[in-house]
Amino acid sequence: MTTPAELMRELHRLLRFIRDLQVQIADAPRELAAEKARLTQAESRLKEGQDRLKHLKVRVHENETTLKGLHQQIKKYEKQRESAASKKELDAFDHEIEHARKQCSDLEDQILQGLSDIDEQTALIPQLEKQLAEVRREVAEYEAGAQERLQRLQSELAKARGELESAEKLIPDDIRPVYRRLLATFGAEAMAQMVNRTCQACLMSLTLQRSLELEMGRFVTCSNCGRILYT
Ligand SMILES: [Zn+2]
Repeated sequence: MTTPAELMRELHRLLRFIRDLQVQIADAPRELAAEKARLTQAESRLKEGQDRLKHLKVRVHENETTLKGLHQQIKKYEKQRESAASKKELDAFDHEIEHARKQCSDLEDQILQGLSDIDEQTALIPQLEKQLAEVRREVAEYEAGAQERLQRLQSELAKARGELESAEKLIPDDIRPVYRRLLATFGAEAMAQMVNRTCQACLMSLTLQRSLELEMGRFVTCSNCGRILYT
């Protein structure tokens, strides 16, 4: 025969177990969404890396084209300069040539910097690809396991609910209303263990009388928080 304390301990265990299962089941879609977001982030990082590389290459190519045009322009000026008719015209060509050379020098610097940036960015792509592959594998693994895990949680929940129902049938009729009321108020924490004459829910000390009654196998509630006690 089950004592009230044993029954309450078992009810408490089942109520807590059911609550924890429900929390885990409710969290499942959020966890899956978080995993999928991780994958999207890794995909974006690779895409951004590739876009940046493409952009750097376009910039270098543009600068090289401009540089080539400037070199041709300088040659043209030099040729025209040979047939300059006045000192004023000569100075004007010199000025244009100097200006174009300065532009060439700036462009060469930019191209060098660009080539160095391209090298750096090119080296980054395989790392980003590796990270993406890793995340993709992890997420696929999570998804494959998630369905199985959810089914297991749901079957555990159904089993625990059945056990709770059976255990609740053992509650004496005169105690059942108190149990229902406490369940509505405290949910899975409708009961509390008494340790060293102390209610573990509210940490209030019990009178010697109450603790003795509980140890004798009677139905006892905490005089402070009202929870059903067990040892
Ligand atoms: Zn209490």
